[in-house]
Amino acid sequence: MSSGDEGLLTLIIRMRVSPEPSLFKELISLMKRYREGLNHAIKVVIENKALSLGKAHKLLYNVLKERYGLHSKIAVDCYREAIAIAKSWLSNPNRGRVPRAKTPRLWLTHRQSYRVRDGYVEIIGGFRLGIVGWDKRYDSYPSGDARLLFKDGKLVLEVSKRVPKPAKYVSKGVLAVDVNEKHIVVGNSKTEYRFETAVEKALHYKHLAEELQKKYSSPKYNAWLRRRGIRDRVRYFHRRARNIVEDWVKKVSHEIASLAKQHLYAVAREDLTNLVESLRKLPKEHRVSLLILSYRRLEQWIDWQCEKNGVPIIVVEPRGTSITCPMCSSKLIENSYRRLKCSRCGFEADRDTVAILNIEMKALSKMGGALTTPTAPQMTDVATNRWGEPVNRPKGTLAL
Ligand SMILES: [Zn+2]
Repeated sequence: MSSGDEGLLTLIIRMRVSPEPSLFKELISLMKRYREGLNHAIKVVIENKALSLGKAHKLLYNVLKERYGLHSKIAVDCYREAIAIAKSWLSNPNRGRVPRAKTPRLWLTHRQSYRVRDGYVEIIGGFRLGIVGWDKRYDSYPSGDARLLFKDGKLVLEVSKRVPKPAKYVSKGVLAVDVNEKHIVVGNSKTEYRFETAVEKALHYKHLAEELQKKYSSPKYNAWLRRRGIRDRVRYFHRRARNIVEDWVKKVSHEIASLAKQHLYAVAREDLTNLVESLRKLPKEHRVSLLILSYRRLEQWIDWQCEKNGVPIIVVEPRGTSITCPMCSSKLIENSYRRLKCSRCGFEADRDTVAILNIEMKALSKMGGALTTPTAPQMTDVATNRWGEPVNRPKGTLAL
């Protein structure tokens, strides 16, 4: 997943590949040398601010060839990747330590260092890898750069493809998206859907990792770090937690885009940047880190799914969406747990429903009021729902 230029989307196609058994060891050794060379190159590029190809070439080309034994074209790919990694790290205001590649890999420039032909990938240096399986839908689109990764004992080739963006339809309404720790609420003045977030489920694995760590730790030394089996188990739990969130985000954003497309709605979401920034200031707890991951990924995936499906997307300012009366714009007061009431017009609703209506309204005004304004919603409770099951707002009376 990544964004593309005007009119084009960059897709990543993953394919399992396997080399001839006699060349397997040599290829993995090359990928490990590449990884070491890359980590060296990242450090050099950052220390010397060598963000141009010319500068990086001078500092790194010979070292990568001689010390790391990389083919000249692969050496060029290596410092190009180092520049890309350094740039994205430097532009991140919350950057931590200098990034390091952990997975053995190769970055490959299309036609220069790899090509795909007759069900095989040919890599410079005489490697020919059979393609085990791939998504053929995008075969007719031009390939870009690729990455070969060695993960969990498997070789995976990730090829980027440039695909034209589908045209966006003219929307007939807005589907607003509101997130909190427990739910994603999707809806407008006519309908509402609720999805549970994956935070609780993922937290379970974070706690398992923590318990295991505690159990095998003593004040003197961390036994769990020394015992490979335990360390791997701890890592597995952390990875599992992340994967649960990532899978959930993909699934729910796909669901949102499909729903919008089906009804020709535009998707409206809040800009979560400030929310994420304020979360970053909190103590580093598992829950907080999972929330940051969920919110960040959700923004990316919702936008991506909308782009891919031609769904118009509107990003609105989050200020006031959960405390303003959607009927008369007065400030709402808390009536009971998560329920808000307007003392001026009597409007009363669940906090998330309030947010949905306000996001819908903000999006409509951003679209220039081309659409009808939302009609008065009902005031009764909206049941928390199971995955994907719509809650139609039952008719109710507005206490005016
Ligand atoms: Zn009101």
